[in-house]
Amino acid sequence: MSLKKERIYLSPPHMGGVELKLVQEAFASNWIAPLGPMVDAFEKEMCEYVCVPHATALSSGTAALHLAMLLLDIKAEVEVLCSTLTFSASANAITYVGARPAFIDCDRKTWNMDPELLEEELAACAAIGRNPGAVIVVDLYGQCADYRRIEEICRKYEVPLIEDSAEALGATCNGKKAGAFGKMAVFSFNGNKIITTSGGGMLISSDGEMIRKARFLATQARDPAPHYEHSHIGYNYRMSNILAAIGRGQLKVLDERVATRRRNCEYYKVALSELPGIEFMPIASYGSPNYWLTVILISPERFGMDREVVRLALEAENIESRPIWKPMHLQPVFRGCRARGGSVCEDLFKRGLCLPSGSQMTYNDLERVVGIIKSSCKAG
Ligand SMILES: *Cc1c(COP(=O)(O)O)cnc(C)c1O
Repeated sequence: MSLKKERIYLSPPHMGGVELKLVQEAFASNWIAPLGPMVDAFEKEMCEYVCVPHATALSSGTAALHLAMLLLDIKAEVEVLCSTLTFSASANAITYVGARPAFIDCDRKTWNMDPELLEEELAACAAIGRNPGAVIVVDLYGQCADYRRIEEICRKYEVPLIEDSAEALGATCNGKKAGAFGKMAVFSFNGNKIITTSGGGMLISSDGEMIRKARFLATQARDPAPHYEHSHIGYNYRMSNILAAIGRGQLKVLDERVATRRRNCEYYKVALSELPGIEFMPIASYGSPNYWLTVILISPERFGMDREVVRLALEAENIESRPIWKPMHLQPVFRGCRARGGSVCEDLFKRGLCLPSGSQMTYNDLERVVGIIKSSCKAG
């Protein structure tokens, strides 16, 4: 009987220690139902961390994106520009209001939306008098997009910017925290993100009126009245008080989580540096990522094997790794949507592999991953 080695996951949850105590506090106060003092405190602490004054805690990052579309009053058939290299939730939210995504390729220097392509696209839209309803820019794998350029371009064309920072809590850009850019920003506390509430999200903005409206829509759109009175369609999108207690505990260890994931990345960089045909996600000079996932590119002509061979070799040793997000413009569900560019992220998708990056990884775990990648190399 062969003994199966312990599984190494891509990005599992990692509790900090005080979460259970905070959950017990929530139980003791009998605030089990949606909302309550833990939700208020979690929102306040997130605002302090990101240095943005208003936020509302929600059931998911996807719900936050949907609300952002509603708050900007994006109408059916309008186009919304979106990073093509992302998780599908970024683009799905656009379709929830009947609007249509149009995708923009990434910049090889950051793997985030290419500001030059965005400008080309907005100029082309302006020329035919069809400005998009918004631009959703994703902070990929924990690294902020180039907001100095992107904010400038969105301002020039008067198109509202939404920052999908679901993967980037804890990152910085030009001295500001991820989530501080655009009209509104979105965070996710899904189980695989850098901190988690098991499931949850947040919408954050410097516009207090926007967040007040978001809260209203997310709480079934109840008009002020002693009975249930409704003049809008509402949603059940708030975070529960129990989950907010977990989030508060997690936020306390966020900076430690960033430091540990950074250590993982640096370990991989040193250990894999001697191999031919391996590159890492570039780090832009304008900020620091949260190192959510370490992502490598494997060039088969130099490495001697392709990405899939390496992924399967890791899987055979009970190690989870994943190809880079498949670009949205290649997804069957978005067939027919326009895309500007696409060849950069298609190349990244072909060669990219996300390595196990959890904050509980031991040096032994890292060495196991590295050993298998090294032995897959058939260069020379
Ligand atoms: C995880 C993720 C989301 C969705 O967040 P959920 O909380 O899982 O709904 C949205 N956008 C990006 C880029 C993500 O990685």
